Amino acid sequence: MNKSYPRQDDNLNNSIKLTGWGSVAVHAGHKKDPMYAHQVPIYASSTYVFDEAEQGMRRFSGKEEGYIYSRWGNPTMTEAEEKIVALETFGLNMQAKGILHSSGMAAITTLMLATLKPGDKILTHYSLYGGTNELVNKVLPDLNITAVIADLRDLNKAADVLKSEPAIKMIYLETPANPTIQCVDIEELARMGKQYNCIVACDNTFATPYLQQPFQYDVDFIVHSTTKFLNGHGTAIGGILLGKDLDFMNTHCTKVHRLLGGNSNSFDAFLLIQGMKTLELRMERHCHNAMEVANFLAAHPAVAKVNYTGLANHPDHYTAMKQMRHPGAMLSFELKEGLQAGIDFMNKLKMCVRTVSLGTCDTLLSHPASMTHYSVPKEEREKYGITDGLIRMNVGVENIQDILSDLEQALQ
Ligand code: PLP
Repeated sequence: MNKSYPRQDDNLNNSIKLTGWGSVAVHAGHKKDPMYAHQVPIYASSTYVFDEAEQGMRRFSGKEEGYIYSRWGNPTMTEAEEKIVALETFGLNMQAKGILHSSGMAAITTLMLATLKPGDKILTHYSLYGGTNELVNKVLPDLNITAVIADLRDLNKAADVLKSEPAIKMIYLETPANPTIQCVDIEELARMGKQYNCIVACDNTFATPYLQQPFQYDVDFIVHSTTKFLNGHGTAIGGILLGKDLDFMNTHCTKVHRLLGGNSNSFDAFLLIQGMKTLELRMERHCHNAMEVANFLAAHPAVAKVNYTGLANHPDHYTAMKQMRHPGAMLSFELKEGLQAGIDFMNKLKMCVRTVSLGTCDTLLSHPASMTHYSVPKEEREKYGITDGLIRMNVGVENIQDILSDLEQALQ
């Protein structure tokens, strides 16, 4: 007798509640494929066909769900979006919507243009990813949207600024922040945001939802450069904007995203989906290795200072421990002998890679004074803690002994 069973992936979406973080990372967002493919296919089609003209009418009017044009979305991108939403809301009993973008910067741009208008101000902090910093300080002012910069680790200062600047409509956080790894208190700043009627957005790129869930503290929006730990292998640039106001996300925000045209694509979304399945495993190993590296560097005679929030003497140790599962994979350290020591150290590395990105399985190091911040005057960059001998490090998932041996020989 021919007995028919439901497809396994039907079961997963309809009748099983996944309870573990790792299971959600592997399965969330996946839908059964009409051709029975195990993995979501790379939907390489710019447009989608209507059975009849009336169907086109229903789709355009929103009366029927379905894909129309890939700038607006397609099944591969949807799976990536739904997986990230599932991870950012895991265990929080809430809903959110994610919109995948071509880059982290595209997601941040959609956020700013969808939520702010001329005359509005953004309260943010000194240490921010360079691109965000330039967007806020060099591009948005032309639209009469300006930034108020303060050290948001000082909560009294943040409250004073909010009290004295009623035009502030958004508090924009990045924690841990690029490149200094400073952390700000999401819970307290989100509470202040509510008190002063501001929206609160958080860049969660360095932490990932495995280490930190900003929605837990009631922030309104989360952005990611998915290029980093979410993809995990350095194979695609990407970003996502998530919001918990579904009406806003589905209407105005979707419109701004579609019209700005910063859409992702199926191939990058596919790579992102595969990367996210191992996020928990990778982050556990990244963080374990980072702690070992921080302890090794802290005891090394050539090193003046280690900036890692996992070390109890770091000024943001308490904040990081309060809101993060582990302190993350990023750290920086200062070489006692300054600029030339930094250049010599970088040149001697054998396994660890000299490059500027982060979030990959391999250990990556950069020397801001001779690379990313080469053109920034010394006095200017030192204000932000970027000294001549500062080295930034993405601690990878290799065997810890191999990482330590490479650092040891390069420090000699
Ligand atoms: N946010 C953070 C914290 C980053 O480090 C970066 C890039 O390094 C971005 C946003 C921008 O992301 P993308 O390069 O994907 O546009």
